[in-house]
Amino acid sequence: MLGILFRDASILDGTGARPFRGDVRVDGARIAAVGPRLDASPGDTVVACAGATLMPGLIEPHAHLSFLDQRHPGHFSTIPVEEHLLATLKHAKLYLDSGFTSCFSAAATKPRLDIVVRDAIARGDHPGPRLLAASVQLTVTGGVGDLRQLHLDPGEAMYTLPCDGPVEFRRAAREACREGVDVLKIVPSGDTSTPAIPSPTTLMTDDEVAAVCEVARERGKRVAAHARSAASVKMCVRHGVDVVYHATCADDEALDMLEAAKERVFVAPALSVTWTRLHESGRFGLPSSPELTARIERDLAMTCERMIELKRRGVRVLPGGDYGFAWNPHGNNARDLAFFVDLLGFTPMEAIVAATKFGGELMGQPGELGVVREGALADLLLVDGDPLADITILQDRTRLRAIMKDGAFHKAPAPGS
Ligand SMILES: [Zn+2]
Repeated sequence: MLGILFRDASILDGTGARPFRGDVRVDGARIAAVGPRLDASPGDTVVACAGATLMPGLIEPHAHLSFLDQRHPGHFSTIPVEEHLLATLKHAKLYLDSGFTSCFSAAATKPRLDIVVRDAIARGDHPGPRLLAASVQLTVTGGVGDLRQLHLDPGEAMYTLPCDGPVEFRRAAREACREGVDVLKIVPSGDTSTPAIPSPTTLMTDDEVAAVCEVARERGKRVAAHARSAASVKMCVRHGVDVVYHATCADDEALDMLEAAKERVFVAPALSVTWTRLHESGRFGLPSSPELTARIERDLAMTCERMIELKRRGVRVLPGGDYGFAWNPHGNNARDLAFFVDLLGFTPMEAIVAATKFGGELMGQPGELGVVREGALADLLLVDGDPLADITILQDRTRLRAIMKDGAFHKAPAPGS
C-alpha cells in the first residue's frame, strides 16, 4: 500500500509528552507507525521534515460555521438559505486552511446548515473539517438570540428557536434529531451582550433542560449549553449536558459539581469573543458605554477566574472562542490557544493538549483524534517552527507547511521540502 512517510519531524503528539525527533508513516486514513526511524516502503511519498513540528490537527470545540462575521445577529435572519449555505461552506474551508481538522459545532443559525455541510465534507464534495453538526440554539421566549418582535414576521427568527416548557423543548430536540444533528444546543442562561438578560440570569427551567437531555440520551446525541449563570451550570451538570460553555458565574457549588463530573463533562469558556469585544471592536460601531464595558470586563475576569480554578481541579477546559463576529472573525481560531496562555496561565503544551487530545475526546473519538499515535486518524499539521516556544505561530497560515485530514493532504508540502 502506498503510504506517506514524514521523515525526521519533531513529533508533538498531543498527549502532553515532550516532543521527540522521529518519523510518522500514514497508510490510508490512519497513522500506521510512529518511531525514531521508519523504513520507507517502495512507492511511499517521503516528506523531509528537517525538524519541523508534526502535530495533530487542531480541534475547535465551539464552532459556528454559519455565523457571518456580522456585527449583529439579525443578519442571520435576512440572508436567504442559499447564500447562507455558500457562506457556511466557505467558512468550513477556511477552518481547514487554518489547521482546524475537526469542529464541534455550538449551533447552526438555520436548522439544516450544519447537517448538509457536515455531509458534503464527509462525502468529499467540499473541503472542510470533520464536523459534528448542531441544531439551532434552543432557548425560551425572550432568551438570548430570540430576535422576534411582534412587528416582524415570526418566520424571520431562525437564529434561535424559542421553546417554552418541556413539551416544546422535547419536540424541537426531536425534530433536530430527525434532521440529523449530532449536537443539541441549548441556551439556559443570559449573556454579557444582552442587557435585559445579563449573564447571571437563568432562563430555562430544570424540566426544560431535563427534556432536551432525555431526548439526547434516547438518540445518542450530545448536548452543548451556553451557561453563564450559576444555576444554569448546575442544571447542566445535573441533567447530563456534555459541554458547558462560559460558566462565567459558576459558584462554589457549581465548581464542585463540575469537578465531580470531570470524567464526562467538558468546559469551554469562549474567551476570544469577549476579549476582542473589549479590545478590538471599536471600529465596528458597536454599542458602547462605560457600564457595558465594565460589565464585559467583569464577565471576562470572572470567567478566567473560574477556568483557572477548574483546570486546577482537573476539569478539561477547552479553547474555542465563538468566532464568526465582525470583531472576532472566522479563521482567527488559533488565537484562543494564546488566550489560554496569556489569560489562564496555561503552558503552550497545556493549550495544545486542550486543543488536540481533549478535542478528540469531545468529538467522541478519544485516542483516535487529536493524537499522533499508531492507529489514530491521520489528521496532521506540519508546522514550520516550534509552537511550544511561540504558541502564536499557529495563527500564521503560512507556517502551516502541510495540512492533512484522513490521510489526505488538504495542503501538501511544497515539493522538495
Ligand atoms: Zn457560541
